[in-house]
Amino acid sequence: MRTVLAGDIGGTKCRFALVSADFGVHLVQRVSTVREQGQFVAGMQEAVRAILTQCEHLEVGGEPLEAPSALGFGTAGVIPTDGSSVNHAPNLPLEGFPMAQWLLDEFGLPVTLINDGRASAWGEYLRGHAAGQDPLLCLFLGTGIGIGLIVDGKPYGGGNNAAGEIGHTIYRPGGRRCPCGRLGHYEAYCGGRAITERAAEEIGPAPSGRWTVGNLVSLSQEPGDDPRAGKARQILEEAAEAFCALVSNCCVLLNPSAIVLGGGVLAGWPGLRDRIVAHVHDMTNEPIRAKLQFVPSMGGSDAILWGAAAATGALWTPSS
Ligand SMILES: [Zn+2]
Repeated sequence: MRTVLAGDIGGTKCRFALVSADFGVHLVQRVSTVREQGQFVAGMQEAVRAILTQCEHLEVGGEPLEAPSALGFGTAGVIPTDGSSVNHAPNLPLEGFPMAQWLLDEFGLPVTLINDGRASAWGEYLRGHAAGQDPLLCLFLGTGIGIGLIVDGKPYGGGNNAAGEIGHTIYRPGGRRCPCGRLGHYEAYCGGRAITERAAEEIGPAPSGRWTVGNLVSLSQEPGDDPRAGKARQILEEAAEAFCALVSNCCVLLNPSAIVLGGGVLAGWPGLRDRIVAHVHDMTNEPIRAKLQFVPSMGGSDAILWGAAAATGALWTPSS
């Protein structure tokens, strides 16, 4: 059975695996994302080597798996049309790094890089709860905000492969500074990194050493009038308002058939999904919401791995 070595390169962690043509995910390797480029690249190299070493003689249901014929990596940021590198990814140390050439030199396999939101949407479309829904909009609220739009069975890339960076559109002109450096972007209000950095600045050290959206939600629910809990509620309220506005705006602009909502922030924040659905219902016109379905994400990052594998063209054709 044919295989591709796929990667999910995220702002907090990376995951690499062998993806087989039956959508199996094998030999998973996990690497924490570090901010120093040399260390980051060495971790990636070690993970890919480990899979290539272990994949010989692997069988699934008695059928031997072939060695991978390509590398497909879903990554945050913008991939230029020549597919050479990863740009404008503030949470990754890859700016200016010749990613595709380095992978080709290192492992001798053809390389495809695809934006992770786009890869994830493709995976959800191929195999997830939203399989076959077209147009399909996927919004991922994690360290940053990722988006993927499937139109006619394929991810929409835009004129210069840069479409969909919705987290870096303007929410409040001149407002809070975004991790990308500009002011007032959505991601500065509802991206996971911005939320937790704001908690550290305005509340102080986290109860368990490191702020997460989950422990911020727990603090916000503490009874009484602790000012720390009040500040947590304010930060979360502002984030929820921003994300609700973002999703409703996307629905009006794109009129999707289905929306997949996913990402670590959403997973750690009970109640946010229902609030978003209610906001879209209240704030959009009937033709937009009449047939719109909200579909749960598959969770994990298998969808990104499938989408990254699909992008190589080595396993499935776009219509399969
Ligand atoms: Zn930004």
